[in-house]
Amino acid sequence: MVFNLTQTLILLLCSTFAMAQSIPLNKLTGQFDEKKDDNFIALDTTELPVNKKGMYLQKQPTQQLIKAYRDFKKAHPNIPFIVVSATRNYQYQNGIWQRKWDALTAKINDPQKIAEEILKFSSMPGTSRHHWGTDIDITSVSSEYFHNDSKGIILYKWLQENLPKYGFCRPFNEGRKGGYLPEEWHWSYKPISSQYIAQYKALLKTDPNTIMQTLNFVGHDKIKLEKLIKEYVLMVNTDCY
Ligand SMILES: [Zn+2]
Repeated sequence: MVFNLTQTLILLLCSTFAMAQSIPLNKLTGQFDEKKDDNFIALDTTELPVNKKGMYLQKQPTQQLIKAYRDFKKAHPNIPFIVVSATRNYQYQNGIWQRKWDALTAKINDPQKIAEEILKFSSMPGTSRHHWGTDIDITSVSSEYFHNDSKGIILYKWLQENLPKYGFCRPFNEGRKGGYLPEEWHWSYKPISSQYIAQYKALLKTDPNTIMQTLNFVGHDKIKLEKLIKEYVLMVNTDCY
């Protein structure tokens, strides 16, 4: 089959449009209810150990995580492998942000500095990978645990050596020139999250206002929002792209 130039251009435009439309904006920014989404599953209905009820994840990453968990337990039956965080939507993240912002305004005057302080450990609502339903935190959210606790050391070694086989990458690794501090516990299901970050990146490049207009968290209009979004969303382990 031979296409003429016009047909080729139309095809190209259609496929670009289809790609750009593949993940709705509200899913990129967590502005939806994962509990009511058919593509998500409650982790407490699976065999995965969880530290609280009501956490959800997309189905495909859940299936892969269960496989990883089973293999880990065969090798290390007595070492904890617990999901301690999964999908956190915008509303949830906004609660965290608001609480931290209020606490820090008593100590810090400069809104940009407040944001940077919060960003050491928490995301701006609308910019968290936890919005996507592809990312989880495992067992502990303390680097200390993974480097100094004997069980943490074993878990961390196993995760690094084995989770990539199930499709997971570690976005917040060491050695990046910005973004979040390293997180040994945070893992991401790359076959899906790489699509989310690609689309986020494309939007930030072509039309950052589309994203920024949806963000209404406290302080959003007093900080270098676009710069911070670009740094914290995009500066992740190249393995996760
Ligand atoms: Zn996390």
